[in-house]
Amino acid sequence: MSTVAFIGLGIMGAPMAGHLVDAGHDVIGHNLSRPAVDALVARGGRAATGTADAVREADVVITMVPDSPDVEALVEGDGGIYANAKPGTLHIDCSTIRPDVARRVAEAGAERGIRVVDAPVSGGEAGAKERKLSIMVGGDADDVAAARPYLEAVGSTVVHVGPAGAGQTVKAANQLIVAGNIQLLAEALVFLEAHGVDTETATAVLGGGLAGSTVLDRKAAGMRAREFAPGFRIDLHHKDLGIVTAAAREAGVAIPLGAHVAQLVASLRAQGHGGLDHSALLLQVLQLSGRSTP
Ligand code: NAD
Repeated sequence: MSTVAFIGLGIMGAPMAGHLVDAGHDVIGHNLSRPAVDALVARGGRAATGTADAVREADVVITMVPDSPDVEALVEGDGGIYANAKPGTLHIDCSTIRPDVARRVAEAGAERGIRVVDAPVSGGEAGAKERKLSIMVGGDADDVAAARPYLEAVGSTVVHVGPAGAGQTVKAANQLIVAGNIQLLAEALVFLEAHGVDTETATAVLGGGLAGSTVLDRKAAGMRAREFAPGFRIDLHHKDLGIVTAAAREAGVAIPLGAHVAQLVASLRAQGHGGLDHSALLLQVLQLSGRSTP
């Protein structure tokens, strides 16, 4: 069993760190706010006083923080991961960040003898709690093989998709599909409601056909009940759609529907709903349709 430093104990990181404790690892947690660290200690982990303290004796460092600048700030500098971890330490970044930043971080790690893989996850809070995450991994084959046991402790599908940054590119595609899917589910629900159809029975039959999806299985009930506690915050999906639109532009690829949904997410955020779950796209469809919102 290994000593695992886990940095970023939020909606996703907290259950993931807990699974690593359950798997028998010595997990040292660090988070910006203290209650999440206390919860990890209650589950059998240990508390670090900061990044350097967390990583010093670690064999593996896992980061699960919001955005590219957060990961860059964590790895860089005298108090950062790469200045304080032992050479040979494996850094698994599970955050969703820009593919180009993931490549730069991997290069910075290599200069310090740290092995880095990008391993963004899909499956949401429920997937994290149920150990059913789907994890797309970029990096050298040997490093990915070394990361696999830790990733299999938190997820059910772990796939090596290419070199450093490739995991983030696949995750960007994932976020494109999920955003479009939620928007169309929102439109379908408002459409059904306007026709007076019972949406619970309607989604039951839709889920059995080609319209079925994990989005429908996991999000339709909350949308019907107008419950938008996150889950996955609009702020984070806005970040991810920025990543995918920039990466598509860089590759010279048109993503017309994706770009449109990115605007709808940006608008919802501009209206002050950045802290709601991404299923709150429903609110905007209700507004556009002149129907009452909760
Ligand atoms: P979150 O905001 O709930 O948690 C992030 C945590 O990181 C917070 O607890 C914060 O205190 C901590 N943190 C930030 N900077 C830190 C630092 N410098 N040192 C220590 N702790 C720090 O976010 P989340 O929903 O858990 O998402 C984390 C990442 O996972 C994001 O990149 C997100 O896009 C991705 N993701 C989220 C979901 C989801 O459903 N929530 C699903 C898949 C992927």
